Amino acid sequence: MAKVDLLVFDKTSTLTVGKPEVVAVWPLVPGFSEADVLHLAASADRRSSHPLAQSVVAFAARHQLVLSEPTDFEVLQGRGVRAIVDGTTVLVGNAKLLTEYGVEPPRSIGEYEGITIFVAAGGKPVGVLDLADTVQPGAKDAIARLKASGIHKVVMLTGDNRRVAQRVANDLGVDEVEADLLPEQKVEAVTRLQAHGYRLAMVGDGINDAPALVKADVGIAMGARGTQAALEAADIALMTDDLSKIATARALARRSYRTIQENLFAGVGVVHVLGINAALLGWIGPIQAAILHLGPDILVFLNSVKLLRIRVEGAI
Ligand SMILES: [Mg+2]
Repeated sequence: MAKVDLLVFDKTSTLTVGKPEVVAVWPLVPGFSEADVLHLAASADRRSSHPLAQSVVAFAARHQLVLSEPTDFEVLQGRGVRAIVDGTTVLVGNAKLLTEYGVEPPRSIGEYEGITIFVAAGGKPVGVLDLADTVQPGAKDAIARLKASGIHKVVMLTGDNRRVAQRVANDLGVDEVEADLLPEQKVEAVTRLQAHGYRLAMVGDGINDAPALVKADVGIAMGARGTQAALEAADIALMTDDLSKIATARALARRSYRTIQENLFAGVGVVHVLGINAALLGWIGPIQAAILHLGPDILVFLNSVKLLRIRVEGAI
């Protein structure tokens, strides 16, 4: 870990949260605010257990919206929900749902990268919600800190499409992206980077990351959200899934490595070489030599004990 000069990250659930969140709300009709669109969507969705519906409700809750209780609520598998909110029939779902109810889905606005949810009320589209997987809080800082500690390059590997991957990479300061990868291609990517002479650490969470975690010089698994396979394959597990801990592990590793070097130099190098030479030249007798022989052990212990007292950012 101290000598690693390249970091490889899996994207989904490692650099990103791993579940879609609402990133934008677009009202489509005059007189409808973002809050109105969100209110209708979240009120209709609040009895649905679908993860996307729950993301919409959670987003509304974060914005302190007071929701209405939907009546005549219906989940339409694979399409969305239909409910009556405040006396109006509301549709929340994909284009298929709107078409099914004779509502023309609005043409897309802006840059869609993630998932689009349409909201229709009273038979006409009133808004659009954009959902996307968002980056982990602290991921950007963690990458910046790692680069400052001498990591030359940060690479992201993902099975996701290039456009989504590139957006995440740009947000986080990742240098290189390999997108559209099949699980086995992650190992190939790691092998290829190692062939370029990099010493690399791989960070991942999924079963499909496990082979690459084994292949990497250091494998790091997301401990809490990571799969059992990833945990078993990794050398280091982040128990709190906090990416800044990678920078902490790196700092600890570098400090430990330096201590080992000091110990070898001072203990074995200086004292033994001096002691042997002094004995050969007859400057010291057996008793003094025996005392001198113990010297390095004590030095090494004392120098190593210092590790207990050092403060590394982010470590307990
Ligand atoms: Mg993943």
